[in-house]
Amino acid sequence: MTLSLYVHIPFCASRCPYCDFATAPATSPLRAHYLGALRTELAREGAALGRPRIATAFFGGGTPSLLEPGEIAALSGTIRDAFDFAPEEVTFEANPATLDRARLRAWRALGATRISLGAQSFSARALAALGRTHTAEDIAPAIAAARSVGLAVNLDLIFGRPGETEAEWRADLGAAIALEPDHLSAYPLELALEPEEAVANWAGGGWPTLERWRSVASAAQPDEDAIADRYELAGELLGAAGYRHYEIANWARPGQECRHNLVYWRNGQWLGAGCGAHSHLSGIRSHQPASLLAYLARIEGGEGRITDDGADPAVDTAILALRLAEGLDLDAYGARFGPAARARVDRALSPLEGTGMLERRGGSVALTERARFVANEVFVRLMPD
Ligand code: SF4
Repeated sequence: MTLSLYVHIPFCASRCPYCDFATAPATSPLRAHYLGALRTELAREGAALGRPRIATAFFGGGTPSLLEPGEIAALSGTIRDAFDFAPEEVTFEANPATLDRARLRAWRALGATRISLGAQSFSARALAALGRTHTAEDIAPAIAAARSVGLAVNLDLIFGRPGETEAEWRADLGAAIALEPDHLSAYPLELALEPEEAVANWAGGGWPTLERWRSVASAAQPDEDAIADRYELAGELLGAAGYRHYEIANWARPGQECRHNLVYWRNGQWLGAGCGAHSHLSGIRSHQPASLLAYLARIEGGEGRITDDGADPAVDTAILALRLAEGLDLDAYGARFGPAARARVDRALSPLEGTGMLERRGGSVALTERARFVANEVFVRLMPD
């Protein structure tokens, strides 16, 4: 059996008010307890799955780069015991202000090939508006340090920020391109109010504070048309600089696409370990709770992952494939899920024919560059009635 591995490290120096990931304070008294439980979960899953081969791995968070070298080495030892671990790609997420040589060496010893830096913006005003703890001046040295140990580099950027101007976003894209990353991700700032579980691990502040911040920030965001223009600008400038727009929010130099994330978008198999992590194994989706305490109780009680109800593999596969420039291979899809599933996709997409939103190549269908920003409107059509 071959699969991909996702490991969730929830710890962050502080909580960015727009964040909906499962995070917890880096100084949490539960940190050692959590890392112990995570290793228990990895060892248990590796044994239950028959020590599978790991094709790609991704350490996300939270801020994995906050782990101490000893913590990284302990995690690495457990993973190597539990799995056949010689992946072609290993990514870890990092805050640009948290990198040092000892940590980078520890990640390299674990097998890291790639770093994903949460740059978000090169504007001091924008970083402050987003509540980030790093400065624009931290980004270039972080890239240089990562490159000095042989890591490929992804930069994450956010657009549609409170008070953002088009000139500011253009400057961000220019600054990012000048640093020649191998890969770039650009996401519009989402301020939908999510359930309280997203903040469960932080004492004080709490949901009402976040809700207030989000309503003020949301009122100061550029309008929908302006955000769509920012996305188009990203496509233009990154395309002109030689990056291929291979997924809705992702651009890469040729051959530098994130292989791990491609496994998600191609609806392949992966095991997710840690709080809030999702898995997709043998056609079944499952997850762990986002709350640290609930996660610890589950692992210590010997309980497995929580199975997701209502997931429809045929719908998931179609939606995920349409995120990608390569699109959905309709014949292969029909062969895998049957004629009824294929007919549902044809029915859902037929009103879009001739609108410039679909691109057909051979037996495949993909969303055009123009349609990708409104992809959610297309995905709704693919949902079961
Ligand atoms: S550093 Fe990243 S994961 Fe941590 S709170 Fe901020 S956005 Fe969320």
